[in-house]
Amino acid sequence: MTTPFLEAKQIGVWYRSGSQVVNALRSVNLTINEGDFVCLVGPSGCGKTTLLHLIAGFLQPSKGDVLLKGRRIGGPGSDRAVVMQHPTLMPWMTVYQNVEIGPRTRGVSVPERRETVEHYLKLVGLSEFAQRHPYELSGGMQQRVAVARALANDSQVVLMDEPFGALDALTRETMQLELLRIWSLTGKTIIFVTHDVEEAVACGTRVIVMTPRPGRIVMDRPVEFSRSLLTDKRSMTSLRAVKSTSAFVAVREELMGSILGSADPPSPLASGVH
Ligand code: ADP
Ligand code: MG
Repeated sequence: MTTPFLEAKQIGVWYRSGSQVVNALRSVNLTINEGDFVCLVGPSGCGKTTLLHLIAGFLQPSKGDVLLKGRRIGGPGSDRAVVMQHPTLMPWMTVYQNVEIGPRTRGVSVPERRETVEHYLKLVGLSEFAQRHPYELSGGMQQRVAVARALANDSQVVLMDEPFGALDALTRETMQLELLRIWSLTGKTIIFVTHDVEEAVACGTRVIVMTPRPGRIVMDRPVEFSRSLLTDKRSMTSLRAVKSTSAFVAVREELMGSILGSADPPSPLASGVH
């Protein structure tokens, strides 16, 4: 039997918050293959960030194990790059220097890392801002720098926590297409948290639905639109066209149904019953 690429086994996470204990994840089992583009969706508080932080090694499970290529994840490592929900750039460094951190740490030669940094800055549309500092950029632009920095690393796994949440709709769709292109070119394994089901269905090879109290997986479904988007011309028109096909809408609604079906029932007040 071959060792799974990434595996979460019987994960439980409890947070202690004052006198209260929060059960953030319960009995989470998950196997991710190399090269998967896994989207985690679900309402706020269902444990998406917690699961991502376990894989990043920022957090240890209270119960169970998370294994990467058969080895328990004991902490952060250069094999996993992380894009946080809010951009975390070094404020004293320029945009260029921020993206250069990974290749520089790895000891990549100056010409080679210049090529890498320029390549990824171009990809996120920020070539002209290379010499600016983060405080001179909007939140959305800072997040694009954070994406470029993560991709410029040589890590096999890229963990992204609602990376496009703060972007305007047009930039967001451009980034979805670019991320798909990068994924197909590099073969990286991407684990992408979003609360936008449409984004998950468009980008993922798999969509995993989580629900809260306690956080658990209620659906794990393969999706295949990302592949057809890649064979297409990758234009915004094709993305829009794919998102409006009946096949796409059906999958989106099935996933929405799974999220809504496992949500708490509305309170009597909310439903108008007094
Ligand atoms: P999501 O990313 O899906 O919104 P989180 O993983 O951030 O969910 O949180 C899952 C649950 O754990 C929530 O109830 C949240 O309030 C709680 N939680 C998350 N981080 C902490 C923490 N550091 N201390 C206490 N409770 C936490
Ligand atoms: Mg979160």
